[in-house]
Amino acid sequence: MEDIVALCRRRGFVFQSSEIYGGINGFWDYGPLGVLLKKNLKDAWWNDIITCPDDGPDGKPLDMVGLDATIIMNPKVWVASGHVGGFSDPMVDCRECKSRFRADHMDEYPCPLKPSKKAGGFEKCSLTEAREFNLMFETYVGAIRNEDAKAYLRPETAQGIFANFDNVVNTSRVKVPFGIAQIGKAFRNEVTPRNFTFRSREFEQMEIEFFIRPDSAEEWYKFWRDTRYAWWKAIGLAGDNLTLREHDRDELAHYAKEGAGTSDIEYRFPFTAPGFGELEGVAHRTDYDLRQHAEHSGLGDKLKYFDQERNERYFPHVIEPSAGADRGTLAVLCEAYTPTPERKGSKVVMKFHPRLAPIKAAVFPLVNKEGMPEVAEKLYRQLRKKYSIEFDVKQSIGKRYARMDEAGTPYCFTVDGDTLTDNTVTVRDRDTASQDRIAIDKVEAFLAEKIGG
Ligand code: ATP
Repeated sequence: MEDIVALCRRRGFVFQSSEIYGGINGFWDYGPLGVLLKKNLKDAWWNDIITCPDDGPDGKPLDMVGLDATIIMNPKVWVASGHVGGFSDPMVDCRECKSRFRADHMDEYPCPLKPSKKAGGFEKCSLTEAREFNLMFETYVGAIRNEDAKAYLRPETAQGIFANFDNVVNTSRVKVPFGIAQIGKAFRNEVTPRNFTFRSREFEQMEIEFFIRPDSAEEWYKFWRDTRYAWWKAIGLAGDNLTLREHDRDELAHYAKEGAGTSDIEYRFPFTAPGFGELEGVAHRTDYDLRQHAEHSGLGDKLKYFDQERNERYFPHVIEPSAGADRGTLAVLCEAYTPTPERKGSKVVMKFHPRLAPIKAAVFPLVNKEGMPEVAEKLYRQLRKKYSIEFDVKQSIGKRYARMDEAGTPYCFTVDGDTLTDNTVTVRDRDTASQDRIAIDKVEAFLAEKIGG
């Protein structure tokens, strides 16, 4: 994992927040390559969920709309949702080394005195009793700092969707079954932020609340669980590193006890191996949240949905696929990281799915003279109208290829002496390092076929 963190720092994927001041625990910044990677992941999600989703289990087009709610909401939202009363983690301290842990994640945060369960077990540590620690960040709205002005940074994006349920139903043509999706920041004052961006205090979620008739929960739960699992596979988390774990009944959240199910889509991160860490949770939340908001807002049955077909008013049930954009990006980084000791020059190749690659192609003149830079620049200008493209004239060609391998750029096009006579360029494939020649006027079509767009 240290190697991946070092590459992220060196190549500008992820930096420590406020690094020049010594950083701040649990906060991370995305550099020029990282911001493109994370944006490509979020764009892929938005496209595949809202713009061009699959058909539903009934074979009909999915009804999906987007939302962008605020981070700070009326604090009553968090009373209704149960977060003010109960969004806490059990916290324990080691009396010997003063480390602080989450009692329910002991294996994720081994005490330095007892590095692993195998090496003695936590029972040998002298631990304090667990005490509840609320994870919500507090702030004050307006000029006066008193209890009445207290507000919270949202700990999940979901409640912004529930609070706007009525607005969306009344202003768009959605009909149950339909979904509202949102990407946005969430904040949790995690007891022990660890494992790079995996557990941060500020992070981004990609959440869907899918509203359904109560009697169709089983079918829609299975649909979303399988669709979301297939999505992570399709963007490159293939193979043994991805798993779907159905929760046991005793693990279920209070609202899900009566539900059709809850499962986690998990990834085998280097720091969880041979185990897995959660990327996305898919839960049947029943009608819990809408009922809570109906009660706490005083709107009561007015928040019920009117089903014209059935001529019936009810609180729809909800299937919630809730994913982390940062954990997703981290999984993509870990999956892509491929040491290549056999290659000259490149020590590491980042094998991103072309859809997610921050830079889609690079254009190089073999040498920075003899008319090659001009031809290369013309090609670069043509391609960058459609794609994120790098143009580089410095250093040896081997070093430039190595830089692009570490950035995960799928293709490099090089203008050389032959280009000037036969109008062909070399195209180098990131994953195999093999090179072919193609006509310079076929480069754009080649990229369209390989990358899309
Ligand atoms: P965990 O058990 O790991 O704390 P959770 O079950 O509390 O996670 P959810 O509340 O279900 O997580 O949040 C949905 C998604 O948001 C998670 O699957 C994860 O991808 C992301 N997420 C949650 N907490 C964090 C965090 N502290 N840092 C980064 N991503 C997070």
